[in-house]
Amino acid sequence: QRRTDCPADVEQLGRSTWTLLHSIAATYPPAPTPTEQNDLKLFMGLFAKLYPCWVCAEDFQQYIKKEEPKTGSRGEFGNWLCEAHNEVNRKLGKPTFDCSKWQERWRTGWKDGSCD
Ligand code: FAD
Repeated sequence: QRRTDCPADVEQLGRSTWTLLHSIAATYPPAPTPTEQNDLKLFMGLFAKLYPCWVCAEDFQQYIKKEEPKTGSRGEFGNWLCEAHNEVNRKLGKPTFDCSKWQERWRTGWKDGSCD
């Protein structure tokens, strides 16, 4: 039997983490309370400190200092996060993602029904 449970490398950790973060955006309220907005800001700040890829974490901390997380609504946060992910994509030479489609990718599923 093959052993497939190995410690996460930077790529696997990244994919799982983006899944968590975009899913948080997808379930964030359209009209969050001040407490919810503050919680999300605190979470992102702590996340950026604790992310267990130290070079990634350092760059991400710099990024959120420059571009503060927008937590005013689901749409705002989802777009902000998509732009933050695109910044990492550019750094790594990956294609950027069309942010007008983040809800289809992470919340509703694609309009062609390919996630049903
Ligand atoms: P991922 O980039 O992991 O994306 C997963 C899926 O998200 C894609 O398949 C696509 O469907 C979707 N997607 C892509 N772009 C977007 C977007 N902009 N908005 C919404 N959805 C999108 N790796 C490094 O080597 N160096 C780093 O410095 C580094 N920094 C990172 C910082 C953070 C905060 C995180 C979470 C990850 C970081 N990573 C870094 C990991 C890197 O971003 C990728 O996760 C990893 O390289 C695997 O890439 P992937 O091609 O599988 O797709």
